[in-house]
Amino acid sequence: MRDRNIMLTPGPTPLPPQVLEAMSRPLFHHRTEKFGRLFAQVISDMKWVYRTSGSVLMMTSSGTGAMESAVVNLLSPGDATLVCTTGVFGDRFVAIHKAYGLAPEVLPSEWGRAVDPDALRRTLKGKPGLKAVFFQHTDTSTGVLNDIKTLARIVREESGALVVVDSVSGLACEPLETDAWGLDAVLTGSQKGLMNAPGLGFAAVGERARKASDEAKLPRFNFDWRLMQKSLADRETPWTPAISIVAGQAAALQLLRAEGMENVWKRHVGLAAHARRLLQEKLGLPFYAKDPANILTGVVLPQGVDGVKLLADILREDGISIAGGQLGLKGKIFRLAHMGYISKADIDAGVDALARRLVGAKA
Ligand SMILES: *Cc1c(COP(=O)(O)O)cnc(C)c1O
Repeated sequence: MRDRNIMLTPGPTPLPPQVLEAMSRPLFHHRTEKFGRLFAQVISDMKWVYRTSGSVLMMTSSGTGAMESAVVNLLSPGDATLVCTTGVFGDRFVAIHKAYGLAPEVLPSEWGRAVDPDALRRTLKGKPGLKAVFFQHTDTSTGVLNDIKTLARIVREESGALVVVDSVSGLACEPLETDAWGLDAVLTGSQKGLMNAPGLGFAAVGERARKASDEAKLPRFNFDWRLMQKSLADRETPWTPAISIVAGQAAALQLLRAEGMENVWKRHVGLAAHARRLLQEKLGLPFYAKDPANILTGVVLPQGVDGVKLLADILREDGISIAGGQLGLKGKIFRLAHMGYISKADIDAGVDALARRLVGAKA
């Protein structure tokens, strides 16, 4: 049991053997034809995942870097923006704004709830100068799914603002249509639905966002989309990329392509249903999210159960990683992920480990 390593965490997620193999190959230099081919393939496959014919840019960073890249490339000092928050990651967008001296308006949702389309419409009324509206596709801290298609349509109807979506934990898990839904910038990271190691950030950048990035005045260097766009023409990145992780990403994308995007989404529907059926049957505890995504299930622990100790025990004794609650939810919920390469057998093992310790503790 001790050397077992089952990850039921909402990022990083487990890696397919093909990805491990690709990352373990001998290193090669990035200013080469070989890397150019690999990189071009990753970008082309990422366009397929994003469902866009616009640009996809790649950076060496975690998902937060991709989020920061959207703020610095789209905005100028004094710009009015709206951040719709549904948990920790919306707050992160706000924190990035503040780090660059911007003061966004915030539309908060009750934790566990998705952004309310009517509240968004009311908030947007009478704000003609708004530069951008920021959303999470799925908020990993609460397990909530936002109806990005509807929310983006409302932004379009009520304002000229850019629609910016953090889909770090949503992409390649939940349906997302960058072009068809009119999304201007969609950000992601390699370590969740994309089934790769942490280390790569991606941004889908539409035409309106590209124009905005030409005009934006915030300081930027490492995350300058204009430099990334320029090197892309030569199938290069401005700086040394995480070459081995790019190789891993190419292998993971090949798997996603072979499966088909609709099947990838269906797989997550099936995993979520399986996990929830089992959790209901074995634990019978309430689920946290009122508007749940298929990426993870948040479960409310009974009063008196120390959630931090519970998950530490499971990791130490069973070799299974399960995420706890963040901020105010610390110790009070656990978040069992079912995204990316996580399997039904992994979920079975996780629920079993939880059930063995929670017997008799039913709420
Ligand atoms: C994981 C995640 C991020 C980025 O986190 P990093 O640790 O920087 O990769 C951003 N938004 C959401 C919704 C996430 O789940």
